Amino acid sequence: MELRIGVIGTGGIGRDHIRRLTDVITGAKVTAVTDINKEIADKAAKQYHALSFPTGEDLIESPEVDAVLIASWDPTHAGYVLSCIQAGKYVLCEKPLATTARDCLKIMDAEMSYGKRLVQVGFMRRYDKDYRAMKEVIQSGRIGEPLLVHACHRNRTHITSHSNDMTVTNSGIHEIDILRWLLEEEYASAQVLTGKQNKNAAEGLQDPQILLLKTKNGVQIGIEVNMTSGYGYDIQCEIVGETGTVRLPDPSALLIRSEGKHTHQIFTEWSQRFVDAYDNELQQWVNDVKKATLSGPSAWDGYAACITADALIRSRNSGTSVPVTLQRRPEFYD
Ligand code: NAP
Repeated sequence: MELRIGVIGTGGIGRDHIRRLTDVITGAKVTAVTDINKEIADKAAKQYHALSFPTGEDLIESPEVDAVLIASWDPTHAGYVLSCIQAGKYVLCEKPLATTARDCLKIMDAEMSYGKRLVQVGFMRRYDKDYRAMKEVIQSGRIGEPLLVHACHRNRTHITSHSNDMTVTNSGIHEIDILRWLLEEEYASAQVLTGKQNKNAAEGLQDPQILLLKTKNGVQIGIEVNMTSGYGYDIQCEIVGETGTVRLPDPSALLIRSEGKHTHQIFTEWSQRFVDAYDNELQQWVNDVKKATLSGPSAWDGYAACITADALIRSRNSGTSVPVTLQRRPEFYD
């Protein structure tokens, strides 16, 4: 039987997920949509033969919806996730899980009281085949113990409302999660460095920012988050171990020899870069929900990322390194 999914938020990624669930993923169909902007929700509903609901809460409560995908704006996530738990429905929430640690804790408490995992966070890089291959190399011991990480997250340009905090909570959050997952440990401290300003960045936006993280075992991590690279959407990651290194390859692209040049394409938009990862993430989620056992990033992962982001923001404001202090991990999330 097909899993009936309701999608909250029919903006950029919401529409892409609706298309994916309809045309790519097997075993699911989108039966309901909603957006604060009724016009775009109605348009998506018409295109995909789904119901359009006036509010997210109406969609969550509908008997036409078995599971919910949240793709609305960041500050709306926590409230909708809590409503899904209250309704006993599985929910895939785009990152971030919530914009405050307090809301992440509320979600974990609600989920633990419900007694079973219902929440998955949209950290889709964990489903990218190259990050997965990097993890296998690390786990095999071929490069020895990891010592250092050099990572970079470059956007060609940014939306005008992009803020200094969003560099961490909306963009760098992907690196925060994927490096915890690759290294399988939590962070101990966080610091942000800023320097010469890119004059092409929006007024008031400090860009680029360097996020420094140190794990509990002392792995030193430097992440360039650059919202105004000017040339493309470019994600890089290299782990330096005791006896070797492993590096994320550039995405495969045609090599072109012409006009005396040897070139290959660099993606310009985030939506082009991790297509397979989004497909894999959603297919796995649908399969898991049907088996009633989630295996993807949990509310704990959303909480750990949020606490780390908070520490980075405090560091940028104070100019010093600050500790990353997580609550004890409940056994529920082991
Ligand atoms: P977007 O294009 O602005 O779409 C968000 C949509 O949500 C907009 O149509 C917005 O309407 C609507 N909305 C705002 N408040 C709402 C509410 N209370 N209830 C229902 N809908 C509401 O943004 P996007 O790029 O699609 O991003 C959406 C979410 O996905 C964000 O949380 C973002 O962090 C996440 N995301 C994740 C990835 C990833 O790689 N995993 C990539 C992109 C985005 P208005 O425009 O009228 O406010």
